Amino acid sequence: MSIPTSVLEELLHALPLLRTQIYFKSSLTALSHAMEDQVLAGAEQALVIACFQRERFYRQEAHRYRRIGTKTDQVYVLASPETEFQNSSQIQEAIAFEPDDGLAKEWHLVVLAPNYSTCLVCREKEVAPVKASDLPSMDQSRRFEGIWTFDRQVSCTVARLLLERVRVYRPDLEEKIEQAIATYGLSEPDKALEAAARFQDVDPGPFVQRLVTYLQVSQHKLVKTYRSIAAQERRERLVNSITTAIRQSLNPADIFQVAVRELGGALDVCRCLIYRCKATDPEAAIAYEFLGRSVKSLTGEVWPLQENPLFQEVVASGERVIVENLTDPRITGSTRLVALVQEWQIESWLMVPVLYQNQLVGMVELHHCGREERQWDAEELAMVEAIATQVGVATLQAEAYANLEDLNEQLAALDRTRSNLIAITGHELRTPLSTIQVCLESLASDPDMPPELRQVMLSTALADAERMRTLVQDFLTLSRLESGRVEWNTEALPLHECLSLAISSVHTRANTETGALPSLTLEVPEDLPLVRADGEWLVEVLSKLIDNACKFTPSGGKVTILAQLRGDREVEVKVVDTGRGISSDRLETVFDRFYQEEGALRRSTGGTGLGLAICRQIVTGWGGQIWAKSGGKDCGSQFHFTIPIAIDNAAEVIPNPSPRSKSKSSKGDRSSGSSRNRRTPIR
Ligand code: ADP
Repeated sequence: MSIPTSVLEELLHALPLLRTQIYFKSSLTALSHAMEDQVLAGAEQALVIACFQRERFYRQEAHRYRRIGTKTDQVYVLASPETEFQNSSQIQEAIAFEPDDGLAKEWHLVVLAPNYSTCLVCREKEVAPVKASDLPSMDQSRRFEGIWTFDRQVSCTVARLLLERVRVYRPDLEEKIEQAIATYGLSEPDKALEAAARFQDVDPGPFVQRLVTYLQVSQHKLVKTYRSIAAQERRERLVNSITTAIRQSLNPADIFQVAVRELGGALDVCRCLIYRCKATDPEAAIAYEFLGRSVKSLTGEVWPLQENPLFQEVVASGERVIVENLTDPRITGSTRLVALVQEWQIESWLMVPVLYQNQLVGMVELHHCGREERQWDAEELAMVEAIATQVGVATLQAEAYANLEDLNEQLAALDRTRSNLIAITGHELRTPLSTIQVCLESLASDPDMPPELRQVMLSTALADAERMRTLVQDFLTLSRLESGRVEWNTEALPLHECLSLAISSVHTRANTETGALPSLTLEVPEDLPLVRADGEWLVEVLSKLIDNACKFTPSGGKVTILAQLRGDREVEVKVVDTGRGISSDRLETVFDRFYQEEGALRRSTGGTGLGLAICRQIVTGWGGQIWAKSGGKDCGSQFHFTIPIAIDNAAEVIPNPSPRSKSKSSKGDRSSGSSRNRRTPIR
């Protein structure tokens, strides 16, 4: 039932001499309000027809029209149907036209009183669609084309055209419409002209004054809108610059630097700080600061957090805290805060938490210093909060990246291990396997082989089988230790006993393998407390270190094993040799898996390159440390490690050393170590 034609066009058709003009929405609002006020202020019964285009019939408008309805009974309001706007006949007539009616694009208001008339007939001009974010600013500048006039003839024509539409949508109002036509002389143009002549006498002053007031109001609204747009733009620019910094760098230091500088500058504060912190941190070290005036810098200072009631308030509430001036009871009630504001000349203080998933990860602080207090308005606070959010995201992003890098490094290390393993397997397993194969084939194919040669073949095959076994065993041991699948049987142990066991295993190996060992000396105080460790693993560490020392020291050299109390909680063990030494840049690398100075493929001393990696895993397993020292090439090496002492037995002095060591402690050379040290040459 909708009528697609335009009322404005119908009017121009009826009165072809009329010329249209462009009005902004703000002007139409002011004109409409001035016209409505004229009805409210006047004594005459007027005919009022308002068409609200596609605008919502706001509560405020509804209220105005109810008031107008109490002044006159000929009030018609046309608008698009909404939940709150339907056809109805109450104080005024409500006419809901179809959404695709020509009226949906038009804005009309006609006021016809016996001695005056005004009318506004406009149609919105089509413009390119605007972004949703522009709407608040653009709404007031929407443009309309049409006519605003006091002319009675025009007003009567428009009233007639609009009442025709009302008649279509609300046939039930037929009688009332006829009454309006008769009362206001809409069908008698001559009468209309007569009344128009009378209108010349009406004083336009009050109307103009109202109009100016409404125009001023709309201007004021515009200024406010522009201000908020400018603030929003400032905020967006700031957030953008920080977002760009985040995009360009994953280094939190760069991001904090940019954020603190931009935020401090934009808000013109005396001091702006950004730091990372957790809710439980006792204090924060200040590294990122903006100083706007000549105030003392906090850079490098330790900033109290747990002792700061404002920080505690932020932690408890998860929200910003504002102190406008020093009369704030939070300041006056805390001697710590009084001292802080005095020392750092703070007058107004803002703390905004940097949160990530409701966890505190940092803080943004703004200080205003000097006599005048500073009040941060809602827009400034919104800006600081926006920056705090960005900083939170950046921090987490940077952390995630760092973790990723760590993971990458671990992956690369794993990959290196895998490659090493392949190299080792290729050489270490294939070489002895080939040797074993050759020996066995020769034995099998040559039954007449002389017994001596047969013996050599068998020994060689056995030795290589042993090498393979050691490699497989070491590799499995290290895997077990690294994966944490080891069960530690920790107990209080006498170090001597473990040393004896380790030395005897080295001897056994030496006898079966190389034979000649360097001289081995033990320097361990008799009153050494018991240590707390898993005995089996402790013997393993000692054996490997002593084994290495013997392996890399010529038979004429010396290997000394020393132990002493370090502090009151641990024992330090040293395995010192006079062998080939380790260059200073390799002192840490020797603990890497598969590290061998000559490289696995050119190894001359045997071994797998896994021994020290195993030792480090074991020692760190009981909470100790292990490290190497050396004077350099051919200057010998020292391997140190620590073991916690068994505290319960701390007072307990080791009883007698194992019978084996005791029997060999006869030389009594006390040239080094404490006077109570036993210096025990083993061989
Ligand atoms: P390997 O089975 O090769 O001995 P380790 O992990 O025990 O494996 O040692 C790794 C490397 O550290 C050795 O190959 C050697 O180059 C170096 N190294 C270990 N102990 C000593 C030492 N006492 N003197 C000199 N070099 C040593």
